Amino acid sequence: MSRNLLITGGSRGIGAATARLAARQGDTVCITYLRNAAAADALVAEIQATGRKAHAFQLDVGVETEVVQLFERLDQEIGPIHRLVNNAGILEQQMRVDQMDAVRLQRVLTTNVIGSFLCAREAVRRMSTQAGGQGGAIVNVSSMAARLGAPGEYVDYAASKAAIDAFTVGLAREVATEGIRVNAVRPGVIYTDIHASGGEPGRVDRVKNAVPMQRGGQPEEVARAILWLLSDEASYVTGTFLDVSGGR
Ligand code: NDP
Repeated sequence: MSRNLLITGGSRGIGAATARLAARQGDTVCITYLRNAAAADALVAEIQATGRKAHAFQLDVGVETEVVQLFERLDQEIGPIHRLVNNAGILEQQMRVDQMDAVRLQRVLTTNVIGSFLCAREAVRRMSTQAGGQGGAIVNVSSMAARLGAPGEYVDYAASKAAIDAFTVGLAREVATEGIRVNAVRPGVIYTDIHASGGEPGRVDRVKNAVPMQRGGQPEEVARAILWLLSDEASYVTGTFLDVSGGR
């Protein structure tokens, strides 16, 4: 069955890999981007060239009016969203906690936590069978940092992902009788651009020896876990986490 899937932060990395695989399985894919319109447009063109459906929208997930307007636009232009991947996330420069200021913390929490909350809220309002929706599934992209804490690097980011974990469990239980499943993936270290924004493009290779499998992950390996959690094969799975971390 063809489904409408919204992936926030789908222009690059894990979001883009998820979009490619979802389109291949027949979903109508809506991706959002913040600054990289060119990358998002190129991905949409690539998917459309295979005969599949894809659309790109600009969105800052941390701005409530933008999130509300995007969902209204999707209602009109695409139809009901059946699946949501809260993937958009940021990592700031590595530093110790005693160097961090509140402005940085606010940026990280706004994108990683408030952004996921707002998109989930709009999705639930439409998916809930109690509100006349058809049900649905949500996957939040957390991080192994939520468990490991990222000491000396970015404890702010780890705290934001721990908030996502708590949000995942709470929301899953809140909407369990409304036909909506909510789960999270916790990637380990994955080869994407996010490590460059953390100030260390080669970070995956530096830390890969701490991974039992002795390698970093590819975005597609996370994408497959996300799509499984969204699929009907996971019909009795909600409020849980799938670590995609090479055993870390
Ligand atoms: P990338 O940096 O490769 O991509 C980030 C995506 O998020 C881009 O599409 C970007 O858009 C978008 N984005 C950033 N800020 C906003 C915003 N305010 N509003 C909307 N979209 C935004 O990251 P990854 O693919 O690595 O990360 C995806 C998710 O996976 C994140 O939540 C991250 O925390 C998580 N994760 C990643 C790990 C890794 O090792 N890579 C490990 C654990 C978790 P644009 O391209 O327009 O800038």
